Amino acid sequence: MAIDRLLRWLDASSCNFMAVDTIRRELDNAGFTALDPCADWQLEPGGRYYMVRNDSAVMAWICGTAPLAETGARIIAAHSDSPCFKIKPNAEIIGDGGVVCLNVEKYGGGIMYTWFDRPLSISGRVMTAGSDPLNPRTHLVDLRRPVAVIPHLAIHFNRGVNEGNPLSVQKDMKPVVGYYTPDKLRELMLRGGVVRCMVAEHLGIQPEEVLDYELCLYPCEPAAVCGASGEYFQSARIDDLSMAFGALEAMLATADTPCAATRIMAIFDNEETGSGTRQGAASPVLRDIMERITAVETPDDRQSVYKAIARSFLISADDAHAWHPNYNEKYDPTNHPVIGGGPVVKINANCKYMTDARSAAVFRSLCAKAGVNCQVFVNHGDVAGGSTLGNILTSQLDVAGVDVGNAIWAMHSARETAGVSDQADAVRVFKTFYGDC
Ligand code: ZN
Repeated sequence: MAIDRLLRWLDASSCNFMAVDTIRRELDNAGFTALDPCADWQLEPGGRYYMVRNDSAVMAWICGTAPLAETGARIIAAHSDSPCFKIKPNAEIIGDGGVVCLNVEKYGGGIMYTWFDRPLSISGRVMTAGSDPLNPRTHLVDLRRPVAVIPHLAIHFNRGVNEGNPLSVQKDMKPVVGYYTPDKLRELMLRGGVVRCMVAEHLGIQPEEVLDYELCLYPCEPAAVCGASGEYFQSARIDDLSMAFGALEAMLATADTPCAATRIMAIFDNEETGSGTRQGAASPVLRDIMERITAVETPDDRQSVYKAIARSFLISADDAHAWHPNYNEKYDPTNHPVIGGGPVVKINANCKYMTDARSAAVFRSLCAKAGVNCQVFVNHGDVAGGSTLGNILTSQLDVAGVDVGNAIWAMHSARETAGVSDQADAVRVFKTFYGDC
């Protein structure tokens, strides 16, 4: 079943780096060629390609049977990152009895108290020396076993905990990784610390070889279906890996259908921190790829990239807030999507979303063609709401498009909940977008 595939993808994608690695493997299996930005590109009509940026963003595309300048691109964008705790350098804070806590920094805007008392593991990337100083070697690492926990304070020491409990990242959220004898701790610290020793052992390298790392904690309960009839699924990182994998599934399912237009899947990193990195939606990475495709396909036409962009359409796919039965007052009275109601178009008068009447009409038509119900999200009039990829991307790429997503509960919780039928519906619409061109 498709949902089982999604659950396995979610489990394999424990952080931005692992998500991109999971996607890259699927693309390799489907005959996509990885392109090196430093090399000359040879592109064939109908050819399948991808480019990874910073190990944490991936742009995949299938060249159209017609040049990009003639047809424009059909683009689906999503993001690879989710709120989490990143392990700082010199992470070990040693307490009584040789207990070791990790010094962490909050990444993005997570719901912190959902992280207490869960089995946590560690994943990310570790760098060792490469052929020369400018080219260190990357090792992806995922310990895949519970190695840490953020224990909550007992209620006996904080009787008011259920009446509002402000949390400090620096004080309250430090994960504990275990306790060691003084001799063992001295040995581990001399070799670079508990974290370095732990990941080095997993990778089969020496801790002294680790030049640097980007590692995060992740909840390691597996993704699962729940609900009386199995109508929900729960996992960490549903925002926004459910949409990233929805786009991937649609691209793979339609890859054998010849299409005049170029199909692009753009999975950016760092949406949760504002997209302002070279692997984020505010970077020129996608524009550069489109410019390069037109330079290869239509080298004599100096206007080709502008025509390509003007003829393109973007679906910016990032999950939306589902109506919560316990908090009706938080939602707009007439525009609150529900789990199970189908994909959601996101609309904001102050242009936090790129959706306008024209692009919403395009998405509604795609839903109708796919036989899928479509919902609308608008913020409660007194709530500012969030932002997403669409408008940030348009600062680099002057493209028309729509912000959509599926309705989920507990966005940015350590365990979010979404709808099984919604996921299938989103894939159906994405397939219609990619497969009917
Ligand atoms: Zn998101």
